[in-house]
Amino acid sequence: MTKLYIKNDNYYILSIDGYEDNTGLTHICNIETLTDFEAFEFNGQILRPCQASPNGHGGYSHAIVYTIDSLKPKDDVDEILYKPEIICPVCGYEFTDCWEYADDNENEECDSCGAIFSYQRNVEVTYSSELVEYPKFKKYNEAKDEKDA
Ligand SMILES: [Zn+2]
Repeated sequence: MTKLYIKNDNYYILSIDGYEDNTGLTHICNIETLTDFEAFEFNGQILRPCQASPNGHGGYSHAIVYTIDSLKPKDDVDEILYKPEIICPVCGYEFTDCWEYADDNENEECDSCGAIFSYQRNVEVTYSSELVEYPKFKKYNEAKDEKDA
């Protein structure tokens, strides 16, 4: 059995052992023993573990989870174009460290919902300029027409 908790705030907890009376956590229910750290379905809701305590038997005794509310149905997943970050087309999770990623990937896995999607980096080419040497102009003076002289 795994006890599921939900976080009430952004307080970061390193270990959840014995956190039943922690004010930052609410015990929501117990489920069959959670055996991996992937997003899962329970009672029609998709939950994602963000912290879990091993039970010593290949599962978890406690898990802090959050709900993935913005999950799009499979038939409603659209392409996401020209955003400043990589965004999961299924759950909307934003990858905030995109500069560390390759230029493209056909099999990126969402850290939040586990969807596999592809992305490519779009590069907009711009130019900048700065003066190195100002032009030198040869100076001419007025001259009289030689026929008139
Ligand atoms: Zn996702």
